[in-house]
Amino acid sequence: MSLRTVEQQLEIVLAAVRQHPAIEVPIDQALGLTLRTDARAASPVPVFDNSAMDGFAVRYADISAATPEHPVTLRVIADIPAGSDLDPAIAAGEAVRIMTGSPAPTDADAIIPFEDTAGGLADSLETAVVQRAPKARGAHIRRAAEDIAAGTVVLTAGTRLGPLQLAALASAGIARVEVSPRPRVAVVSTGSELVEPGAPLRRGQIPESNSILLAGLVTEAGAEVVLRRVVDDEGDGPADAVAEAQRLGADAIVFSGGVSAGAYEVVRQSLGESMEFAKVAMQPGKPQGFGVTGGGMLLFGLPGNPVSAAVSFEAFVRPALLHLQGRNGIHRPRTHLPAGTGWRTPLARRQYLPAVIDRTDPARPVVRPATSGGSGSHLSAGLGTAEAYAIVPAETEQVSAGDPIEVMEL
Ligand code: AMP
Ligand code: MG
Repeated sequence: MSLRTVEQQLEIVLAAVRQHPAIEVPIDQALGLTLRTDARAASPVPVFDNSAMDGFAVRYADISAATPEHPVTLRVIADIPAGSDLDPAIAAGEAVRIMTGSPAPTDADAIIPFEDTAGGLADSLETAVVQRAPKARGAHIRRAAEDIAAGTVVLTAGTRLGPLQLAALASAGIARVEVSPRPRVAVVSTGSELVEPGAPLRRGQIPESNSILLAGLVTEAGAEVVLRRVVDDEGDGPADAVAEAQRLGADAIVFSGGVSAGAYEVVRQSLGESMEFAKVAMQPGKPQGFGVTGGGMLLFGLPGNPVSAAVSFEAFVRPALLHLQGRNGIHRPRTHLPAGTGWRTPLARRQYLPAVIDRTDPARPVVRPATSGGSGSHLSAGLGTAEAYAIVPAETEQVSAGDPIEVMEL
């Protein structure tokens, strides 16, 4: 039987995503959100011509011949600290003391840094003894709008607003932005063997880890976790969780476990009506459940092995959550690195192997499996060292040291 490809499954998922209308928020509440309309500069950057140095604003013609042997002495007639609105007229033979970022006087066409004068800061309110001429007119003057002009696009729709982006907006005088609301996501682990991490374990029980994993991945994808719950393998836990998620206005619910072919597959049994269960040509992550409620809430049924759940999130849930936010580039960047060692891979399924990037030789980083146990999807502690997934094509059966490997960095 031929399996569905990762791309085919992702296409089905993305086709079900419905974006919300944009909301307007102040920039100090926009960290991590996605811009929905192009943001245009309200004011130019820089706002006005200003000094790039602490020193003196001068007329270039006065000092163009200055050398250490033949310094030029100018009379200092004013002082312009940052924030000042002074624009003193400068006559021949005069200079104005100026600090970095202060507005350059209209009459000045160069700035002489203190370092290029005999006295430096010392007698800087009386004379400026210029010992070195700058190379050209305009030296050390930062021109208005040389970074960006008012009205031009600072950031385009689809950009994630991180600290650098928000600072760029602020510097261009933008106070409010149109963004996508944070998606609201419920995370539900299934399994009668699962107990709180740290609780005593009787035979057959294991610590529950997928909900902390998936909640973290959801948060890192710019969404908000509105419900985190564990349900057991009997009864209608998943359907109850869907009802609760709907009450909370969730955009998506992410189940883990209970979707494969065993006897107690509670997500399949409880939600078989509203989800489709497919086999995808990937390893780990072959069984995938997906559906949409009438209200448009996305239902993800990920396999329960922790590595399978993590990989499935990367393949399907993260792209969906980013698409929901209108993000440009819904896929993580990929590079190629040589394999640092060989390993076996399953035939006819694309492998996503938790990996580390070995930088022992900084000039030639290589990629290696994160766990010595290989690709086992149950090796959840090894996930702790992973910093990437090595992605090996379905056709490949064996990776050899030195082979170029596609690497998705996390
Ligand atoms: P399942 O997909 O429900 O058959 O689960 C596959 C494997 O993953 C089983 O060994 C489960 O015990 C384990 N597993 C499922 N859900 C979780 C979870 N939330 N935390 C830790 N392990 C899990
Ligand atoms: Mg289970």
